[in-house]
Amino acid sequence: MANLPAMRSGDAAPRHRRRLVIRIAPAALALSPAEEYGLGVLVDLSRLVVLDDTGAPAPSSSSVVTLYTGTLATPVDGTPSVQAVASLAEVIAVADGAVTVPRALLRGVADIAGAAIEQASPARDRYGRTPSAANPLVAAGVEREPVVSTASARLREAVAQAAGSRPVRVLAPWPDGHRWCAALTHDVDVVAAWPAFTALRLVELVSKGQGRLAAGVLAAAAGQTGGDPVWAGVRAVLDAEQRYGVTSTWFMLCGTPTAATFRAGDLTYRPESPAARRIMRAVVARGHELGLHGSFATGDAAGVFGEQRVRLRALSAADAVGVRQHYLRMRPGVTQRWMAGAGFSYDATYGFPDRNAFRLGVVDVVPAWDAAGQRTLPLDEVPLVWMDRAQSKYQGIEDPGQWIADAMALADVCRRAEGLWVGLWHPNLTAALGFPGAPAAFERLVAALAAEHPYMAPLQRITEWRSLRRAVRATAVSADGNVTLAGPSPRAFEVIVEDADGRPRERLAATGPT
Ligand SMILES: [Zn+2]
Repeated sequence: MANLPAMRSGDAAPRHRRRLVIRIAPAALALSPAEEYGLGVLVDLSRLVVLDDTGAPAPSSSSVVTLYTGTLATPVDGTPSVQAVASLAEVIAVADGAVTVPRALLRGVADIAGAAIEQASPARDRYGRTPSAANPLVAAGVEREPVVSTASARLREAVAQAAGSRPVRVLAPWPDGHRWCAALTHDVDVVAAWPAFTALRLVELVSKGQGRLAAGVLAAAAGQTGGDPVWAGVRAVLDAEQRYGVTSTWFMLCGTPTAATFRAGDLTYRPESPAARRIMRAVVARGHELGLHGSFATGDAAGVFGEQRVRLRALSAADAVGVRQHYLRMRPGVTQRWMAGAGFSYDATYGFPDRNAFRLGVVDVVPAWDAAGQRTLPLDEVPLVWMDRAQSKYQGIEDPGQWIADAMALADVCRRAEGLWVGLWHPNLTAALGFPGAPAAFERLVAALAAEHPYMAPLQRITEWRSLRRAVRATAVSADGNVTLAGPSPRAFEVIVEDADGRPRERLAATGPT
C-alpha cells in the first residue's frame, strides 16, 4: 500500500463555488473559466480533501493548509503547454500552511486534460479525425507520460510538506480498498457478414507481407463453414472475463447500415438483428454494461446521438449512459457537446487510434471541457489508454504477445499512479476473422491485470465512483485534528479518507439506495 501524503483540511474558501482544502486567496477570484477548470481537475486528481465551511468561521491557519493561485513569474509564454505542466508542477510553492499553484499550470491542465489545444486544431486525417500530431503531448514526445496526473501528485506532496503538524487527509483512490483501477471495454464492430471481414483482413495481411499468417487465417475460416466465428469470439471474451470475475463495458453500433456505410467501414449490422440481440442479451445477462458505439453520422450532425441512444434503449431495456465513437472519430469539443446534449454521462473516445498512450495526460476520469463555450460539460471523459489494434493496424506488429506486453507496460504506469487504465479489446479478433492467437492473448491479459488486484467494473460504475469521490468535502476540522466529512449519498460505495501515512481515518458509509 502506498504511503499517501494527505491533505490538511483547508481553510475557508468559498466565496465562490470552488472550495478547496485550502483557502483561496483574493487573486483566485479573477481566475478565468479555463483556470477554474484546471484547478478543479488538479485538486480532484490529487485526492486532497477540500474543506467546505461556507458560512462557518474560517478555521485558523494553524489547522488547515491554504491553497493560493499565483501568477509566479514563470517563463511560460509561448512554450508548449506540456512543458508548462511538466515544469510548473515543480514550482508549486510551499510555505508553512500554504501552497501556491501558478495560474499557468492551471491553463496547461485545460490545454491538455481539457483538450483545449486539440479543440483549436483544424487538422483532420482521412477519417475526419484530429490527427495524433495535433495533440500537444505527441508534439512534445511525452504522450506515454501522464503529465497532468503527475502534477496532481506533486500538489499532494506539496500540501503534505506544507502541513507541518496540521492534519492531512486524502480520499482513498478506488472502492473496496483497491489502489488502482482497470477497465476492459469492447467495441462490437462485426456482427453480420463475417466472411467480408476475413477477406479484408487477408488483404491487409498480404499487403504487409504476412503470407504465413494469411494462410493460417484462411485455414481457420474454412473450418468455420456453417459456424459463427463472431458469436464464438463474443462467447470466448465473456467466458474469459467470467473466469476472473471481471465485468466490462460493451459498445454497440445502433444505426442502419447501407452499402455506403459498409464500404466506409462504418455501420455493418442492424442492432435489431437476431445476432446482435443475442450478443446484447448475453452481455447483460453476465452483468456487463451496454453503451453506444457512435457511428460516423453522430459526428456529422447534432441529434443523431439522441436517435441512436433511444434505439439502444429499446433493445436493451437499460438506458445507456456511455458512448465511444467508432474509429474514435470525433471533432473534439463539438462531438462532446452533442453527447452531453443527448443525455450521456460519459465519453470513452479520447485515445489515439495509432498508438497506445495518454491522450489527455491523465490516468483518471476528468470532466469534459468545452473550449468554445469556456465551460465544463456535464460529461465525464474516460480516456482510452490501450487498444488491441493500435500496434497491429498502424505499426505492423502482428504478435498478440507484444500487444499484451504493451498493455501491461501502460497498466504499470497507471498502477503506480494509483490511477485508471482503460483497454479496448475487439471480440471479433479470432482466428477465423484474421487474428490467430488473439483469443489466448486476451485471456493472458485478463489474468495479468487481475493478478495486480485492480478495481474492475463497467465504466458506469467507475464514473459514478469518481463523481462521488469528487463531491466529498470536509465540513469541519476539530482542534484535535478530526475531520468531519459530507458528500452525496454514497449508496453502494464506502468512501474512506486516509491520513498522511495511508491509514484509514474517517469514512462515509454506504447508505443503500436512496
Ligand atoms: Zn468501432
